[in-house]
Amino acid sequence: MGWMSRILGVIMAGSGGVLLIFGMDPTTGIFSYVYFFLGLLMMSMGFALITGGRQQQREQKPPPPTVTEIRCDNRECTFKEIRDFEKGDYILKPVDVPCPKCGGRMTVEGIYIVREEPEQTITI
Ligand SMILES: [Zn+2]
Repeated sequence: MGWMSRILGVIMAGSGGVLLIFGMDPTTGIFSYVYFFLGLLMMSMGFALITGGRQQQREQKPPPPTVTEIRCDNRECTFKEIRDFEKGDYILKPVDVPCPKCGGRMTVEGIYIVREEPEQTITI
């Protein structure tokens, strides 16, 4: 659908531009305004189709950023780390890597999906 809407956008913007030039000709009289605005409308719609298709492709590229929170099992140790989510991570999963602060065992405390774009959050 992406390439089709882009081609349609180019055709619309192009024909809109022709109408715009035609509308700017003073010999066509009162109808020139109709052609002018019609051309302007078609051009903006065409450009919206072209840029709209590009924005959709950009949104599809990055995967949802997910992070894993790791906490040390030792109650006296307050070490906490947030690293990128790895396949197979689950809450309360024992981590193979020992705590860099006390050398004790660490457990996955939580898995979070980080939303970088706040304008995309849906409010019900
Ligand atoms: Zn520790």
